[in-house]
Amino acid sequence: ADDPARPQSPLTALTPAELTWQMDEIGEAPHSSHFGDVYFSRHDGRAETQHVFIAGNDLPRRFAAWQASRPFVIGESGFGTGLNMLCAWACFETHAPGGARLHLVSTERFPLAHADLARALSAWPDLASKACRLLAQWPEPVSGVHRLWLADNVILDLHFGDSAECLARLDGHVDAWFLDGFAPGKNPEMWRPELFAAMALASRPAASVATFTCAGIVKRGLAAAGFAWRKAPGFGRKREMLCATLATPAEDERRRRTPWFIPPPPQPTRHVAVIGAGLAGGCVAQALARRGVQVILLDRQAPGAGASGNRQGALYVKLAAETNRQSRVYLAGLLHSRRWLAEIDPQRRLWQDCGVLQLATGERETRRQQRFLANHALPASVVEGLDEQQASQRAGLTGKLALAHGGLEYPQAGWVRPAELCRALAATPGVTFRRAAVESLRRDAAGWRLELAGGETLVADQVVIATATQASRFAQNADLPLQPIRGQLSSVALPPGSPTLERVVCAGGYVAPACDGVLSFGASFVPNDDDAALREADHAANLAELKRALPGFVQALEKAGARLAPGELDGRAAVRAASPDKTPYAGPVPDAPRWRADYASLAKDARRVPQTPGVHHPGLWISAAHGSRGLASAPLCAELIASRICNEPLPMERELADHLHPGRRLIAELVRANNPPVA
Ligand code: SAM
Repeated sequence: ADDPARPQSPLTALTPAELTWQMDEIGEAPHSSHFGDVYFSRHDGRAETQHVFIAGNDLPRRFAAWQASRPFVIGESGFGTGLNMLCAWACFETHAPGGARLHLVSTERFPLAHADLARALSAWPDLASKACRLLAQWPEPVSGVHRLWLADNVILDLHFGDSAECLARLDGHVDAWFLDGFAPGKNPEMWRPELFAAMALASRPAASVATFTCAGIVKRGLAAAGFAWRKAPGFGRKREMLCATLATPAEDERRRRTPWFIPPPPQPTRHVAVIGAGLAGGCVAQALARRGVQVILLDRQAPGAGASGNRQGALYVKLAAETNRQSRVYLAGLLHSRRWLAEIDPQRRLWQDCGVLQLATGERETRRQQRFLANHALPASVVEGLDEQQASQRAGLTGKLALAHGGLEYPQAGWVRPAELCRALAATPGVTFRRAAVESLRRDAAGWRLELAGGETLVADQVVIATATQASRFAQNADLPLQPIRGQLSSVALPPGSPTLERVVCAGGYVAPACDGVLSFGASFVPNDDDAALREADHAANLAELKRALPGFVQALEKAGARLAPGELDGRAAVRAASPDKTPYAGPVPDAPRWRADYASLAKDARRVPQTPGVHHPGLWISAAHGSRGLASAPLCAELIASRICNEPLPMERELADHLHPGRRLIAELVRANNPPVA
């Protein structure tokens, strides 16, 4: 069994909870074989949750009085069956005023299997519709943050991993804590000092805590972290429980090493202008509108006219052999995109999760994939190594069509209709799309002024730039390194009798299962070329790549009469934007001249970190450089930006938000300037 005392890799499979079902007077209740303790008693589990966590944090009164523009945030140490969180949501529904929002953050190291969760929650028929929302989005057992939208005004962030480690990585602040885990005597590793210290750092002023236990380890832990505790009458046979408050949260020293990433103070958010109606901008517009923000989405062309305008695109990622932050962002992004697509398009008109095969066509890629599998114990439902026979079978290519290579399969991945998706996002209620070219941005007392071609000016509280390579045309972004990458997709109408592909198959390029009778494959990848005209040479290169990866499939297409000659292929070329490190930019726009001045001393001595917080253009954000993986990165980056704008906890660990920060290159350049790497 997993040892809770051992730190976990930030990218790994989690050990699922091992349950037995115990009968009590009313029915069966889940019991943990690992910890030898119950999750809840069916007899009085609801009443205990109500007494200890809901009343213990004074939630009915606090919810009723909640007027803040940000959401009320509850943090929890052990999610278990979700009973506490579902009850908190029900209480919020009853007591909170219209327009109020609730944000739930819960950690879990041993997530329940889906069937166990369903069985456990079936004990509470009046929570059935809420349980249904949870079950429909229940994440894969992979470490990291999984954001679930339980309702239009309720978000649940599940941080899978050890509670102390997860809360130390949380970028967000909690109003009320549910300190729940198995009894301290049965699970002492969870109730360790680091847990309380992380809670103190992630608390709002006057945050409250409630817990069922009165154990000494908990009283001492809370007190050492600065919480003032008091005993309260316990539930049922338990004589006492604990309530605590933290008057002043602990000073967060962690930012001293990276003060440039300190987030800008929250700004008013009534009207936000999003510039660029491709995938990046469309996702931000939708994420903000979902939170009740009025959004104007501007583009000089129709939605999805740029690189997001292909009729079909692969939703896939390529993860590094050794865990790094970029891989963590992309895997989180893939899982997020899939959940998000299932939410916005449950009928799957715009996408298919048919799975993606990443073939290992050469020695190097084979070794890379082997290293990846050895380094990452991820569940087969997320990524699985296949030999050529298995890969052929999954792709539906058998006999003469069979693949000559095995590879990795990502069952969660698939393909999307990006052009249609962009149109759907621009039509989200709360989003007004307007066709207009924004020439420049200026800030004054009224907020941001967007100067449009033709002389008109629009005013917005905040602005999000999502115009790919064009992003650096705005003066505020002039220093942002963005590289154009030309990409051409080829397509061919399939005649009857053509073979069908069951998976997206990637090798040098990718080919997707036919969509509306048309097969798409490509795409070419030409850095520093911003020409979007179709080229026959690119079609020829795409075709050659397809033949290399799937020779039998191409022969069968030719036999069926598909017109595959480069001169006859159809297609679409567009220019994508990439950053030098190939991670997207998502976050606040740094005031580059100020950063150069404030952090100039890094060039002399990178270890002497000035303590000035990073100065940003107030209320100016960017989501760009999604390269050819925007389907996996743009939706999660949009949640990141919307969460920052709306002053709520982030949908990813703080180091991943730092990794995406648009100012990271500026700092790297300053550090490199006078500190050449030691040979
Ligand atoms: N709050 C839950 C509910 O409403 O159903 C019940 C929580 S149950 C009593 C305790 C939970 O804490 C279990 O799901 C267990 O797997 C989890 N847990 C135990 N140790 C943990 C740790 N170190 N980090 C995160 N979760 C942990």
